[in-house]
Amino acid sequence: MNNRIIAAIAFAAHKHRDQRRKDEAASPYINHPIALANVLTNEAGIDDEAVLIGAILHDTVEDTETTEQELVEAFGRTIADIVLEVTDDKNLPAADRKRLQIEHAATISRPAKLVKLADKICNLRDIAHSPPAGWSLQRKQEYFDWAKAVVDNLRGAHPQLERLFDLAYAARPQ
Ligand code: NDP
Ligand code: ZN
Repeated sequence: MNNRIIAAIAFAAHKHRDQRRKDEAASPYINHPIALANVLTNEAGIDDEAVLIGAILHDTVEDTETTEQELVEAFGRTIADIVLEVTDDKNLPAADRKRLQIEHAATISRPAKLVKLADKICNLRDIAHSPPAGWSLQRKQEYFDWAKAVVDNLRGAHPQLERLFDLAYAARPQ
């Protein structure tokens, strides 16, 4: 038996093995991709294997040395494309990357939209409950509003996930 979801978790755990999240407790990075897959399948009822694997792998190219070719060889073209669609170009200045995420949200594939929604849901929940160390109230608020601008450009992809996003947004720090 070949369980591709478990293989993706093992692959991502290895790639992110030396990384931590930005919260005060410096949580293991892999908690985040696993949280996306958990939201997608157990909160939104999504069982599309490509979406779940895309979620598990979503930060490997952006945040580790993982290459497109490696993903194609290990998981196939479909999965690699989903990951690339949610990967920022780190050569661009931060402000451009932020603006491009808003613009691109409208045109990426539906599987990529679902991964993007889960990523924003998880990041808003993290900022509400275990925010990056040192973030001011204003910085948290700006992140919430930027995430909403991204999500507003992909609405219609999955109403139930969008409701989960809206619930997470309702915890916008005041
Ligand atoms: P960052 O991009 O620096 O951090 C947010 C990202 O960190 C999230 O998208 C998430 O990405 C990851 N992350 C890791 N741990 C956590 C956690 N516990 N909670 C939430 N997210 C986490 O922040 P911004 O996008 O706000 O900043 C972008 C740019 O803004 C910076 O490069 C800087 O130049 C500028 N800036 C803005 C300030 C402000 O007050 N608005 C102040 C200082 C700088 P992922 O899903 O990929 O893991
Ligand atoms: Zn992420």
